[in-house]
Amino acid sequence: MYRRVSYMQMKKKKARRKRMIKAWCALIMAACIGGTSLALAVNAWAAPEDASAEEAAELNVQQEETGETISGNVALPETGEEMEKKEEGKLAVIIDPGHGGEDEGCAKEGVREKDVNLAIAKLVRDKLNGMGYQVIMTREEDAYIAKEERVENANASNADIYVSIHQNTFEDGAVEGIETWYDGSDSVRDSKRLAQLIHQETINTTGAVQRQIRDDAQLHVTGKTVMPACLIETGFLSNPGEREKLVSPEYQEQIAEGIVRGIDLYFHPKTMYLTFDDGPYVENTARVLDVLKARGIKATFFLVGENVEKNPEMAKRIAEEGHTIGIHCYSHDYKTIYQSVDSYVQDFEKAYQVIKETTGVEAQFFRFPGGSVNAYNKKVCKEIAEEMTARGFIYYDWNASMEDAVKNPNPEQLIANAKESTLGREKVVLLAHDVVYATGMCLDDLLDQLPEYRMEVLTEDLEPVHFQMK
Ligand SMILES: [Zn+2]
Ligand SMILES: [Zn+2]
Repeated sequence: MYRRVSYMQMKKKKARRKRMIKAWCALIMAACIGGTSLALAVNAWAAPEDASAEEAAELNVQQEETGETISGNVALPETGEEMEKKEEGKLAVIIDPGHGGEDEGCAKEGVREKDVNLAIAKLVRDKLNGMGYQVIMTREEDAYIAKEERVENANASNADIYVSIHQNTFEDGAVEGIETWYDGSDSVRDSKRLAQLIHQETINTTGAVQRQIRDDAQLHVTGKTVMPACLIETGFLSNPGEREKLVSPEYQEQIAEGIVRGIDLYFHPKTMYLTFDDGPYVENTARVLDVLKARGIKATFFLVGENVEKNPEMAKRIAEEGHTIGIHCYSHDYKTIYQSVDSYVQDFEKAYQVIKETTGVEAQFFRFPGGSVNAYNKKVCKEIAEEMTARGFIYYDWNASMEDAVKNPNPEQLIANAKESTLGREKVVLLAHDVVYATGMCLDDLLDQLPEYRMEVLTEDLEPVHFQMK
């Protein structure tokens, strides 16, 4: 991708090194002569007369890298305009059009990668600016900038994310599609989610062939940046059909729109409330809790009193790990509990007591077995809902489901059910059952495939999702 440091670049670097040496010599000399001259020498080091702001900043970085420190209050030079910094209160995005200047990137039939990258990058910049983002471009023109310099500037800018735009090439002209890269060896930065969202949204806006999201990016721009970073290859210049599209303003516009949507979703994810009914069970609930714990996610569990009595330790663990506990019922027997308002309240109170005694939680939320409106409670559901609301309890139905309460559920199908039923909603209450083996087995994969959602627990501030009662 990046070939080499240009001749001019080398010359600039040499000159800087020379100035550094000169400054250090002055410093050492001053140290020999005595205290008062030291301050003067430090000034000479800190602000080389002919260094541009950019070079001075690099001097600064070099000093940090070599671990050299000078005691005293050293005034370092201003960094100047060339290194734009993140503005307070704004989300700052670095857009990096790959290659430039003498480094053309890949080229085919007169189409040069560097030009396509820059055209798309400018569209992305304008759209993001229009949405209130601060955009810092690694280059605005057809100029050569070494990857080391791009990353160095990016890291110093304090920006929030780094997105690099490139084009692909391959010997086989039939190969086409979008590929996105990130550094999977670093789990601290949120690069994976950024890569997933940009990849997914760009596929959506272009209809391009979906190639891999690769986590083995040993690339400088994804590996050496300190902020979440990814690199998207928006198409193959070696594929004649795709090449033709990649130079058309309409297609570039679609790509830019996808990248922008991905970035915006990264910063403003939708909300999903994971809810698990019918537990706790020993092994299956533990599996669900393990996945949530590893991901730092909190969920809401609607417990069955009978199961709490059978598995009190698991009920305690749910509470101890910070999840929200709600009431489902004591006995999951529709025919008994839905006979009348009284029978429902009786069962509910029993569950409430068991859960309180076992976990210490005084539950405020509940979920009707089978949902607030079902085949067993049509005659009494409205009355029960009114009674429970009057008692200060809040019930939640759901607007998406894994549909895992079936015979022999298949993990892949459960994932598909959950994803399809979200319908892209801003707020999703997802129904699942922690008692189901397949649910625990596929939960991690499912969460991996929902990068546009941030998981939250139900709270009383949330407008509850209710089925329509007649
Ligand atoms: Zn490239
Ligand atoms: Zn249930």
